[in-house]
Amino acid sequence: MLSITCPHCGPRAEIEFLCAGEPVARPDASAPLDGAALAAILYERDNVRGPHEELWWHRHGCRAWFRVVRDTRDNAVLP
Ligand SMILES: [Zn+2]
Repeated sequence: MLSITCPHCGPRAEIEFLCAGEPVARPDASAPLDGAALAAILYERDNVRGPHEELWWHRHGCRAWFRVVRDTRDNAVLP
């Protein structure tokens, strides 16, 4: 089981958190967005092998969102 360090609560067990995956930049609301661009925003991810930044939510704690860097090769959470 992973140990995730919440910036507010400190180290906690993985079961207290929800991983929302890779952070995705929101598109400019004033620019037109076609179907292919929308599909890319919604579904295309880098699928990195190695250190990977993810959004995590401390759902059973302070309910804060924060970023974690996790190595996808060995599942280690990096400082
Ligand atoms: Zn927390």
